[in-house]
Amino acid sequence: EPTTQSKAPGRRVAIVGGGLVGILAALYFAKRDWNVELFELRKDPRGTGNQASFSQKSINLALSTRGLSALANTGLNLDEIVLNFVIPMKGRMIHLDKGELRSQPYGIFGECIYSVERKALLELLLNTTKKFTNIKIYFQHRMKTCNFDSGLLEFENVAEEIKVRYTADLIIGADGAYSSVRSRLMRVINMDYHQEYITHAYCELTIPPIIDDKGDLKFAMDPNHLHIWPKHTFMMIALPNLDKSFTCTLFMPNENFDAIKTESELINFFELYFPDSIPLIGEQRLKEYFRNPRGSLISIKCKPYHYRSRAIIIGDAAHCMVPFYGQGMNCGFQDVEILDNVFERFNVTAFRNDDNLDLDLALKEYTKFRHEDAMAICDLAMYNYIEMRSSVVNPWYLIRRKIEGWLHWLFPTIIIPLYTMVSFSTVRYSDAVRRWKWQSLLLNVIGLIIGVIIALLLNFLYKFLRE
Ligand code: FAD
Repeated sequence: EPTTQSKAPGRRVAIVGGGLVGILAALYFAKRDWNVELFELRKDPRGTGNQASFSQKSINLALSTRGLSALANTGLNLDEIVLNFVIPMKGRMIHLDKGELRSQPYGIFGECIYSVERKALLELLLNTTKKFTNIKIYFQHRMKTCNFDSGLLEFENVAEEIKVRYTADLIIGADGAYSSVRSRLMRVINMDYHQEYITHAYCELTIPPIIDDKGDLKFAMDPNHLHIWPKHTFMMIALPNLDKSFTCTLFMPNENFDAIKTESELINFFELYFPDSIPLIGEQRLKEYFRNPRGSLISIKCKPYHYRSRAIIIGDAAHCMVPFYGQGMNCGFQDVEILDNVFERFNVTAFRNDDNLDLDLALKEYTKFRHEDAMAICDLAMYNYIEMRSSVVNPWYLIRRKIEGWLHWLFPTIIIPLYTMVSFSTVRYSDAVRRWKWQSLLLNVIGLIIGVIIALLLNFLYKFLRE
C-alpha cells in the first residue's frame, strides 16, 4: 500500500527525475489538472551556492527556439521570463592559431541562441511549480523499483533512509541518461537499445571577469558569441555567464587528457594549442583542470518509449546525445510539448476511465511520432562535433556556407541552412535532415555548374589571349 499519498480524485502522474525536463513535464501535466508527484534523487538545488555540486553536467547551456517554444507553451510566460537572465550569442567566434578572431554569424537575419545557467533555469522552473497546488515535489527520493502493471513505485528516501511507496496512473521517466525507469521498461517490453561512449571526454574551466580602470567587472572576451578554439581532432569552447565570466569546455580524446599529468605539461599544452586563452584563464586558475571532473560523453537511442497506458520515458532517458548541437535540453523540452500536443489530439483528460484506451493510444502515437526525430538529432549532434572542431576553418566549408547564406537570403523559404532549421525553428528534426540532404544535392549541382562556367570562361579567355 502507498505510504503517504493524498486521495485526490483524478489521474495521478509520477514523474521520476526532477531535472530540467522532468520539472517542465510537471508544469504541463499540472496545467492539464493531473495530480503530479515529482521525485528527485538530489537535494533541492535552490539556495545552494555551488552550481557544479548539484550537477555533473555543464554549468551553462545554449537555449534555442525549440526550448523557448516549449517554455512559451506552458502559458506561464516562461519564455519571456527566461530571456531576462540569458546572454544572446549571435554567432561563433573562431579563435585562430595566431590569436586572430573570426566571427561567423549563426543566421543572416541576426538570429541568436542564448547562454543560460543550468541552475538559474532549474530554479525558475522549480519556483513556477509553486503556482500549482496539484504539484508535489519529493527531493532526495531515489526510485528503486516500479511495477508498470500495478502502477506501484518504490523509492528510497535517502535523507531518512526509509522506503516509501506511491501509486500512479502514469509513470514518466525523466531520470536522465542512466534512467532507472528505462532499465525497468526493458524488462517488460522488447526495447531496441543502442548506446555509444565516444572516445572524447570534457572538462570545464573558467575565464573570470576582468576589472576595468573604474573598478567595474567586464567580460574578458566578446560576450555575444560562442567562442571556439578548433583544433581539428579536439576543441575548446566558451559560453558567457551573467557574472561576466565564461565557462570553457575542453573536449578531447581521453588519451590526450591522460597525457597531461603535471602543471608544466598543462601549460605547454595550452601554450601550443590555446595560447590566447592562458592570460584570460590565468595560469593559477588553469590548474582547475586537475581538480574538475572529467565528463564522459554518451549517445543513447532506444525504442519504444512507452509501456501500454502506464509509462513513458522522455528527455535524456529516451535519447541522450553528445552535446555538440546544443540540443539535448531543447529536444527534451520539445518532447514535453509534443507529448502535450498528442494528449490534446487524443483527448486525454485528467479524469480516470476504465480502459485507459485514450492514454494507450496517445503513448503509442508519441513513440511513433518522436522516435524518428530523436534518432535524427542524435546523429546530427555527432556530425556537428566535426563541424565545430574542424570544418569551421575549412575554406570550402566557408564558401559553401556563404553561398547557402545568400540563397537563404534570396529564397528564405526554399533554401534554409541546417543550423537554422535545427536551432531557429521547430520543424521536425527528421524533416530538417531530409531537407538538408536535398539542399546539399542542389548546392553541389550549383557548385558544379559554377565550376563548369568558370572553366569555360577561362578556356575562352586563354584562347582569346593566344590569338
Ligand atoms: P537530467 O538533467 O540528467 O536530469 C535527470 C534527473 O533525474 C537528475 O536530476 C537526477 O538526479 C534524477 N534521477 C536520476 N535517477 C533517479 C532515480 N532513480 N530516482 C529519482 N531521480 C533520479 N543541452 C542543450 O540543450 N544545450 C546545451 O548547450 C547543452 N550543453 C551540454 C553540455 C554538456 C557538457 C552536457 C553533458 C550536456 C549538455 N546538454 C545541452 C544536454 C543537457 O544537459 C541534457 O539534455 C539535459 O540536462 C537533459 O535533461 P533531463 O531532465 O532529461 O535529464
